[in-house]
Amino acid sequence: MTRAALADATRDGQATLWFRARLTDWIDEHLDELTPDYPDHGTTEQLLAHQRQVQRLLFDAGWMRWGWPEDVGGLGGTPLFRAVLGEELTGRGLVHSAAYSMPEVLAPAVVRFADSALAAAALPPLLRGDDLWCQGFSEPDAGSDLGSLRTTARPDGDDWVISGQKLWTSWAHHASHCIVLARTEGPESGSRGITAFFVDMGSPGLHVRPLDTMADVDEFCETFFDNVRVPTWSMLGARGQGWEVAQHILACERGPIFWQRGGWLLHHLGEVATLVEPGDHEAERLLGKAFAAVFALRARSRLTQHRFAEGNVSGPDSSVDKILIAAADQAVFDASRLILAGSVELDDTSRADRFRKEWLYSRAATIYGGTSEIQRDIIAGRVLDLPRPGR
Ligand SMILES: Cc1cc2nc3c(=O)[nH]c(=O)nc-3n(C[C@H](O)[C@H](O)[C@H](O)COP(=O)(O)OP(=O)(O)OC[C@H]3O[C@@H](n4cnc5c(N)ncnc54)[C@H](O)[C@@H]3O)c2cc1C
Repeated sequence: MTRAALADATRDGQATLWFRARLTDWIDEHLDELTPDYPDHGTTEQLLAHQRQVQRLLFDAGWMRWGWPEDVGGLGGTPLFRAVLGEELTGRGLVHSAAYSMPEVLAPAVVRFADSALAAAALPPLLRGDDLWCQGFSEPDAGSDLGSLRTTARPDGDDWVISGQKLWTSWAHHASHCIVLARTEGPESGSRGITAFFVDMGSPGLHVRPLDTMADVDEFCETFFDNVRVPTWSMLGARGQGWEVAQHILACERGPIFWQRGGWLLHHLGEVATLVEPGDHEAERLLGKAFAAVFALRARSRLTQHRFAEGNVSGPDSSVDKILIAAADQAVFDASRLILAGSVELDDTSRADRFRKEWLYSRAATIYGGTSEIQRDIIAGRVLDLPRPGR
């Protein structure tokens, strides 16, 4: 792929078609190297090792760099390229959608808020899969009510010293860096007193304890900060700008990630459809319902992807996308479970194991990235301007 050819395609309004056509040719040529060598879901170690290999191949061939700014190691072009790349990978089951989403969750905020030298140094190893980042927002008593977080950062010479505990930190035990929200003003400062830091997970005083989940996916951790010293240049944005950084990250989660998740859901739905006996009308009904939910997500998300690509990182109306993705996720894996009834619950086959894990994980879709109750509250108050009860 050359920039000149991209410029021609862009001028003709064909940039994403041009990108997808070349990408799919390349994927077809490299399918053996891109396909996981373990059956179905795999362990977290297998899944992350494979993803690293895929990212390295994609980065070295340029694909992983398209859609990111050139001054942070990207090759430029629209962020729609990132959505297309994720869709092609998850839609063929070549990477696991949840793990693949982490760079896309956090990197846009580092590009926007980090010191330019930090962003330029940090992005290439992340995109190449050499590094993995995690998100240190939630705490034992601060999830939906993130503004009440209690982890603190106090200035000390040229450094800041972080103390506190984070919870539900996905992939922290495998991560090289964490974006940490910490309170830099007094306890009453609420969301105004929060600052974001880009923290090296190897820092002395930082400890990670993995948590078991019902989905048997080794993802979550508790992360402890015992006087962890971080340099001032690792601050994202200015002191007190952490809430804005957090909002940007939550909004970016609804960009290319939701598009690739749609590819992942269709991949599974397509597989289940091949297992339905002709004439099984109940199964056809379930499939149709799930397909409609995924279609609603993609119809909405397509608009969001284009707005994102134009630089309009979504506002409160992206809560609609979050509700739709949770509904689609659960519809697909509810349908799978009912169609594969008995097998998903009891079988020891690798396929049953995968659908079991995916069904259990889909229960979390109404929680991560902001619960569905909170999204409905945002839509009611900030999109529809409905009065709050009691007013
Ligand atoms: C799979 C997964 C991955 C995650 N990964 C990360 C991660 O990497 N990093 C990270 O920092 N966090 C992560 N989280 C945590 C996630 O952000 C929180 O779980 C979420 O914000 C909800 O917070 P909570 O669990 O404390 O629940 P709470 O906020 O305590 O909510 C409990 C229940 O009360 C409801 N509720 C709360 N407040 C209101 C209100 N005002 N109005 C109506 N209902 C309300 C909620 O909707 C929910 O049903 C992850 C969670 C999941 C499930």
